[in-house]
Amino acid sequence: MAAAETEVRYLKGVGETRAKALGKLGIFTFGDLVDYFPRAYEDRTHFSPIMASPLNEPVCIRAMVATPPTLSRIRRGMELVKFRAVDDSGSVDVTFFNQSWIRNQIRQGETYIFFGRLSENYTRRAMTNPDWEPEAREGVKTGRILPQYPLGQGVSNKQLIGYVRTALDAVGPDVPDTLPPEIREQYRLAQAQYAYENIHFPVDFGALELARRRLIFEELFVLACAMDRLRSARVALEGISVPEADIGRFYDALPFAPTSAQKRAVDQALSDMASGRPMNRLVQGDVGSGKTMVAAACAWAVISAGKQAAFMAPTEILAQQHLATMRGFLEPFGVRVGLLTGSMTAKEKREVKTALADGEIQLIVGTHALLTEDVAFSELALVITDEQHRFGVNQRGALSAKARTPHVLVMSATPIPRTLALIIYGDLDVSVIDELPPGRQKVDTFTVDESYRDRLNGFIRKLVGEGRQVFVVCPMVEENEEFDPSLKSAVEHAEALKEAFPEFSVACIHGKMKAKDKDAVMADVVAGKIDILVSTTVIEVGVDVPNAALMIIENADRFGLSQLHQLRGRVGRGKHKSWCILISGAKNEEAKARLTAMCKTNDGFKISEEDLRLRGPGDFFGARQHGLPEMHIADLCGDMKVLETAQSAAKALLARDPALSAPEHRPLAERVRRLLEKNIGTIN
Ligand code: ADP
Ligand code: MG
Repeated sequence: MAAAETEVRYLKGVGETRAKALGKLGIFTFGDLVDYFPRAYEDRTHFSPIMASPLNEPVCIRAMVATPPTLSRIRRGMELVKFRAVDDSGSVDVTFFNQSWIRNQIRQGETYIFFGRLSENYTRRAMTNPDWEPEAREGVKTGRILPQYPLGQGVSNKQLIGYVRTALDAVGPDVPDTLPPEIREQYRLAQAQYAYENIHFPVDFGALELARRRLIFEELFVLACAMDRLRSARVALEGISVPEADIGRFYDALPFAPTSAQKRAVDQALSDMASGRPMNRLVQGDVGSGKTMVAAACAWAVISAGKQAAFMAPTEILAQQHLATMRGFLEPFGVRVGLLTGSMTAKEKREVKTALADGEIQLIVGTHALLTEDVAFSELALVITDEQHRFGVNQRGALSAKARTPHVLVMSATPIPRTLALIIYGDLDVSVIDELPPGRQKVDTFTVDESYRDRLNGFIRKLVGEGRQVFVVCPMVEENEEFDPSLKSAVEHAEALKEAFPEFSVACIHGKMKAKDKDAVMADVVAGKIDILVSTTVIEVGVDVPNAALMIIENADRFGLSQLHQLRGRVGRGKHKSWCILISGAKNEEAKARLTAMCKTNDGFKISEEDLRLRGPGDFFGARQHGLPEMHIADLCGDMKVLETAQSAAKALLARDPALSAPEHRPLAERVRRLLEKNIGTIN
């Protein structure tokens, strides 16, 4: 593979500057060039007669230059080269702007290929600034399917075509085939060299399709193999054995009866932890489905077995709230629950750390502060992370590193379509809480515009009068942050509401406040001292205020669908009938589709599927945070069928050769190793 590692600066015409420009595109070697796939293709294979060609569509014509090219200056800085060209069907006027050098390149009487769009003025046809080349050189710019590469500053498509050509010629013959022959045969996939050649320079569209199909399959196949490797590596590890406790005792002490979905999730986790292997389980459930109790049950089981548990939350507010909840659940059993967050004083932290190291604190709830190196445990057996999409994979890894392969329980309210969960959490087991606690009412959702403002204020007055609390979410913190006067800023909007409702207590909370101040406001909200809370999206995640019955979202079109759903999940958590009002005057179709989806359903899974459809998966997750490798050619949303096929192919192959040690599997093993190294890092 030496050719693949050749640096781009060995290419003709590539100096330091161009090499830098290529580097910005992620291209450093010949191998990178071969892997730099076109984003689109231009069909320049069909020639058509001038008079029979469609107008305003890209076409190739072959015509002889009939008049000598003339150069004229129409105004300052504007030069025109003009001539007429003819074929058997008729003639075309060809014009080039500001390319005066063309006058000396194009000769009367010779035939050229022109690629461009034809226009028509009465009966005269014309073409402006076409791509062109002499007939004899046909096949460089025309007469073929031309790749269109994603471009960056300082590199043109034409240059990239040249570089890729050189790289392919150098590397092509020894591209190792990642796909073992038997898989290629079984799924009728093209060979590697053919695929790389035709993804860049397809001989026709059939060949392009074959190339794409193979490369997409290959990418997903390698990903599936990598995920499988992760899973088996974990299964091979020894876990801390937590004997299954009588969980009924824990349930009996709860203020409510657990739903069967909650019980199922708890059972699954407990049997994982008793299995002798490290648990790595994702509990996925819509907002309000009661994930916290599942976490508490697992912590209880671990603590009953004489060990410790840690519960990580993404924000201070959430950590505080989880602390209170966990104490409620566990203190009746004499469990000591502690808190560790960044805003505590050094002395407080020191005390907690000592108690943790001594094993005196059995459950620690905290934020990122738990990750610092000097936090030690006496016997950490379970790590729980809440709303894990806020944590990077590496951060989770850091906490897991504090004990010998502790059990890991991850909770997420971002409902992920099943097929995607398979790949993202390929190395996790998944429990789905697909049932809400009884008595929950649907949050009625409406989209309204500014004309509804007075009635809305009347509604706020009525609800608060009845003792309920109201959340108002604004997209911005301060006025003028972005030049759009219609955007509501949380700070200013809170002022306006204070004026409109002098009889109520109105507070404001936003991301720029100190954690301590935010916590103080939030504590007042939870205690019922605040009637109307205006905020930016800081309340998006996890806070539980059962008395809140109205969620108003200003400029709702500015939010993503999943985000809107999370926000709505802040109300309808108690016994009170709740509403969500989306305020928007958006005309944009995509925005309207989001708001319509919100009004139509309360089901998080349906919402996430719709979100995925509208936005595509990249955006949806913040792929990097999920440790999800960036896909090169496959589309995790659109290629779901291929994904499933690739997954079963990977499974079958790994059953035969678990370590991928057979010589014909070596290129695959290498690709899998590289993928894991690059993306997964320290997950186990
Ligand atoms: P989330 O899944 O969003 O984290 P929580 O765990 O915060 O949900 O639970 C939401 C609310 O529902 C809490 O007030 C919790 O006490 C309550 N709850 C949880 N499980 C049940 C249940 N089985 N029956 C009734 N209420 C429950
Ligand atoms: Mg929660």
